Amino acid sequence: MRIVMIGSGYVGLVSGACLADFGHHVTCVDKSAAKIDALEAGKAPIFEPGLDNIIEHNRSAGRLDFSKELAASVAEAEVVFIAVGTPSRRGDGHADLSYVYAAAREIAAAVSGFTVVVTKSTVPVGTGDEIERIFREEFPEKDISVVSNPEFLREGAAISDFKRPDRIVLGTEEPRAVEIMREVYRPLYLNEAPLYFCERRTSELIKYAANAFLAMKITFINEIADLCEQIGADVQKVAKGIGMDKRIGDKFLHAGPGYGGSCFPKDTLALVKTAQDYDSPVRLIETTVAINDNRKRAMGRKVIAACDGTVRGKKIAILGLTFKPNTDDMRDAPSITIIQALLDGGANVQAYDPEGMEMAKEVIGPITYGNDPYEIAEGADAIVIVTEWDEFRALDLKRMKSLVKTPTIVDLRNIYPVAEVTKHGFAYFAIGKKNEK
Ligand code: NAD
Repeated sequence: MRIVMIGSGYVGLVSGACLADFGHHVTCVDKSAAKIDALEAGKAPIFEPGLDNIIEHNRSAGRLDFSKELAASVAEAEVVFIAVGTPSRRGDGHADLSYVYAAAREIAAAVSGFTVVVTKSTVPVGTGDEIERIFREEFPEKDISVVSNPEFLREGAAISDFKRPDRIVLGTEEPRAVEIMREVYRPLYLNEAPLYFCERRTSELIKYAANAFLAMKITFINEIADLCEQIGADVQKVAKGIGMDKRIGDKFLHAGPGYGGSCFPKDTLALVKTAQDYDSPVRLIETTVAINDNRKRAMGRKVIAACDGTVRGKKIAILGLTFKPNTDDMRDAPSITIIQALLDGGANVQAYDPEGMEMAKEVIGPITYGNDPYEIAEGADAIVIVTEWDEFRALDLKRMKSLVKTPTIVDLRNIYPVAEVTKHGFAYFAIGKKNEK
């Protein structure tokens, strides 16, 4: 099958490379010349574990190529995925659909013969209808079916998530499109792929409802964590205790500095806006958004409190900048707000992240960067663990203690057993448990 992926970012590139790995012929298109040049030179423009190998393997097999030119690639394709960004629109928080509609128009102008156009980008309910209207009114001679197929992969585990998804949601009721989408995803499974067909608007809402639910679950345990700190309970044990109940489940119950990343913040906000527009507010999600926004800044205050109430002139070492491990993605990472709060308080911030520092330099203010955790710990008044990268999980605490000025660890991811840290003489401030001073 000939497939074209419009947008070669985290979603488009992973989806395109994986579909090629299953035998389809895929062209990944992007407007960014820098991205396509890097890909053609054999370098993935993003960090995602395993992606380089899949790209290389399928390029040499002749199943995967890259292009800056949308028109030529699309003319040959049976299926065209739209995987461009849908960031929050400045000012009102609605999803900015300008990239989606621009891509849709370019695609429609270029297709020949029956073509399925699939929105893989996260788009609000009704976007598929609007694309269909554009096609009908502006390109009446073209034979195009518009399908919604939201993506649920997680950065950092994107390849296995794409290849072995819990479900593949497909919003279409058009028999020709159903047939083609079955063919796209059939190779993912030896038996039957977990395809879930529904109406297009339902499919669009499934993506937002799923992300909003997960964001709410994180926010729930974060609030329970705050309560634990006040009443002397341990949030990790509470999470385990409730997670053993299958109705609740143990996933997404890790208390931390608040959710971030390229999806949850913008998708929760967009759902809130859509719901308000339809006069059917989702108040649980409105509250989730507000709690999470406050939480990130509160984490800055938590660090300041751990430093005896002031960070003015103090050196704070930040371990981890990306919104989660195994990605270089800095979009809406909690570290941005936390560091800003520390800078506002007069701190000197030094940071280290295994993959995120290049992107961090574009979004974080005046801080310095080190080459490893030990370098930035030198002379520090506090070490703050913001992202739970594997390499921070077994730090040489004895060495750390010999380097720092004041032995204080603020662990916003609860990656250390309390006794392990305190035995090395550190004061330890974790999330949702008693402070150890
Ligand atoms: P991204 O910013 O990494 O990539 C989008 C790419 O689209 C960019 O490289 C941009 O240059 C390109 N682009 C924009 N307009 C174009 C056009 N007209 N023609 C060709 N290329 C164009 O974004 P992403 O993280 O891959 O997200 C894409 C969509 O997938 C968003 O709607 C997002 O909400 C959704 N999504 C993301 C994730 C994730 O983990 N990142 C997971 C599920 C869903």
